[in-house]
Amino acid sequence: MRTHLSKARLATAEGGRANAMLRSCVHCGMCNAVCPTYQALGDELDGPRGRIYLIKGLLEDFGGGDSGESVKESVKVVQTHLDRCLTCRACETVCPSAVPYGELLEIGRAEVERRAQRGSWDRLLRWGLGWLVPNVRWFPRLARLGQWFRWALPRRLAAALPKRPEPTAEPAVAEQPSTAPQALLLRGCVQREATPATHAAAIRYLNARGVEAMEVAGEGCCGGLNLHLGQSERALAAMRRNLDALRPHLAQAQWVVSTASGCGVTVKDYGRLLADDAAYAELATQVAAKTRDLSEVALELLENRDGAPSAAPLGRGRKVAWHPSCTLQHGQRLTGIVERLLAEAGHELVPVKDAHLCCGSAGTYSVLQPELAQRLRQDKLANLTAGRPDVIATANVGCQMHLASAACPVVHWVELLTPD
Ligand code: SF4
Ligand code: SF4
Repeated sequence: MRTHLSKARLATAEGGRANAMLRSCVHCGMCNAVCPTYQALGDELDGPRGRIYLIKGLLEDFGGGDSGESVKESVKVVQTHLDRCLTCRACETVCPSAVPYGELLEIGRAEVERRAQRGSWDRLLRWGLGWLVPNVRWFPRLARLGQWFRWALPRRLAAALPKRPEPTAEPAVAEQPSTAPQALLLRGCVQREATPATHAAAIRYLNARGVEAMEVAGEGCCGGLNLHLGQSERALAAMRRNLDALRPHLAQAQWVVSTASGCGVTVKDYGRLLADDAAYAELATQVAAKTRDLSEVALELLENRDGAPSAAPLGRGRKVAWHPSCTLQHGQRLTGIVERLLAEAGHELVPVKDAHLCCGSAGTYSVLQPELAQRLRQDKLANLTAGRPDVIATANVGCQMHLASAACPVVHWVELLTPD
């Protein structure tokens, strides 16, 4: 794709990167075939190729000739179509030119936030979500309050609020390091409140296989939620906080482990995201290099078991519909691992149509784009339950909450691999 970014923009690190990414797109349109919003709305501008064109126009200042008012309108159009993007990155998986669409979208969204004014409700909602959801101190308190007064909340907020979790007995984590391989187990933000059973199951899973699961005081939101909202400064601040918390423990740890694929994909990207920060760039790269999704560690442990049985007896195998979250299959490109782990543990996987498509959760998307999110959820649930599973398993807290209205339980896959 030919581009005409101004010299001033090209001179910035962001402008230079965006230019190279834009030029790598050959506008073949293969990405449209797997894009959930293009399939749902049938509008070229709601597909990846159209959005790439919109970002190109934005970064070229729409040719520089438009009047002030018409530029404002053009920026609004870009904003509308970028807002509808789920950031699922299915388009990246199929792109023959390896266009890093997610990175380009980040640049486009940050530029739109700088240039387009939003309505007051939209601004308040985005500001509130960006402040509250990653806030590990206030989110649990206000979520509990919201659970009591769910009836009084606007419908889309009430629907997105996590259900009160079942009380979970949390296994002990090591306080002092031992000689066993160590995993720094991230707790993140929403997951610790909404689905604490995942963390407890991950500790049991690792401990049962001779890995010491350690928690890190002061660790919290990975920054991904703010990043998707185009709030780059807040996102970077959350990343630096996490890095400060991890710093003292990193040398002795074999892995930094995430049980939420949405967080893992962001932490694995810390090196790129903080590359221009002289104080944190090196640490960010080290943390990213040690970060693994739990399924990667589980696979490594499985392959190193030297012929010994891998797991404690798990009882009756169950019929499982596997929903690979987008951040696992497209963001981290981890496919086939959880399926293998579940099958080795004696579970039966039922076939699921269109497994590559997003369920509509996508961070705060279900609150900000409720109609589209519900439509995608309906389709996803129909596909997931077509094989009459006993349980639906996924790898990310957002999907787990979004799909919770299914007729059968929805759990994190590790809960199916650990006896209580
Ligand atoms: S598949 Fe890749 S190269 Fe083709 S239009 Fe989409 S982003 Fe561009
Ligand atoms: S990230 Fe997902 S929703 Fe956005 S353009 Fe790509 S495929 Fe479509």
